[in-house]
Amino acid sequence: MVIGDGAYIKKINRSLILQKIIEHQQISRANLSKITGLNKATISVQVSDLLDEDLIYETRPEHNSVGRRPILLSINQTAGYLLGVDFDYKNIQFTVADLIGNFVENNTINFDTEDYNEATSLLKEQIQSYQTKYAFSRYGLISCVIGIHGTVGKDEEINFIPKYQWSKVNLKKDLQNELDIHLIIENNANLSAFAEKVFHHPHNHNQSSHLLSIMLSSGIGAGRMIDWDMDKGCHGYTGEMGHMIISPFGPRCKCGNNGCWELYASEPILFNKLSEQLNKPHITHRDIKQLINKKDPVTHELFHEYIFYVAIGLNNVINLYNPGTVVLNSRVLKAYPNAIQKIKENMTSNVSQYDNIVLSELGRKACVIGACALGIQHFLGVSELFLSHHK
Ligand SMILES: [Zn+2]
Repeated sequence: MVIGDGAYIKKINRSLILQKIIEHQQISRANLSKITGLNKATISVQVSDLLDEDLIYETRPEHNSVGRRPILLSINQTAGYLLGVDFDYKNIQFTVADLIGNFVENNTINFDTEDYNEATSLLKEQIQSYQTKYAFSRYGLISCVIGIHGTVGKDEEINFIPKYQWSKVNLKKDLQNELDIHLIIENNANLSAFAEKVFHHPHNHNQSSHLLSIMLSSGIGAGRMIDWDMDKGCHGYTGEMGHMIISPFGPRCKCGNNGCWELYASEPILFNKLSEQLNKPHITHRDIKQLINKKDPVTHELFHEYIFYVAIGLNNVINLYNPGTVVLNSRVLKAYPNAIQKIKENMTSNVSQYDNIVLSELGRKACVIGACALGIQHFLGVSELFLSHHK
């Protein structure tokens, strides 16, 4: 920090003012001054700039009581748009949000090759079409934030995507060569953790200040938020807890080790076992729901085992991090009655400490929602971001 640097202080003040306007949705200049501790003259100058930039607007609410009606300030939500992309295997999800996190549209495209060049040209075309579509707004399509199901370095270079077997590819650079837009490349589990923070745990108390979000889907990935900082480790690759060894003589994993957590607690494992034991070649989420409702004994036995292994990994992770809240993003656990209670029953250690384990309400949209939120945070330059979740 450079003490006495006027431009720097102005930037900090602007960020704080924007942060409070988003948080309160509608707020008067007087209240802004009270909440931020900034004097009225500073508020007035900053607000005037933000109005000039079309980032906020004024309203004078109608009410019947006598007296002065204060002018309220709100974020001009349609001044620009953000594009969030979940670059999953075989399908790519695109979501557009406005500046207060309203989701304007969501589209999924099937992608049937593993060719990197085809992927970049498809992304390029898509991003360009969204740029054209939102060009009518003052700032147009501001940013595109892409969630990658693999390791992404702090320099945003992709280290490795197991399913595509792409290593050391610089998607950001390759797209930037052809596009004129601000781009961010980030790991999908980190974006999901950010979404949980922004939409469900924004407050700065203990439970929310150490947030661990674990995705139990085709693999296992995790993201961790400490207050408003994404914990990325030294190089950006933290959270690969799916490859924590929970059974050294267990089956071989594609990472090169044996008995990784992912081989016991990821979704496909449960599906494969069900399919094998029920002698049914293709099992869907819908089938699982029906089997649970029918109280099918094989299904219940397999869930029992699955939950046992989920709890083993969770126990280890909780001992490592001592989290406040653990958010589990899992479609199958969501379908199973009292899943969290049953997980907790398997965690009997007196050592592992946490405040809360919950199931994610964001589900498969967590990544794109987090991507849009990160774009908003970046554009407005705020350190804390409070958005209400609009489905
Ligand atoms: Zn592994």
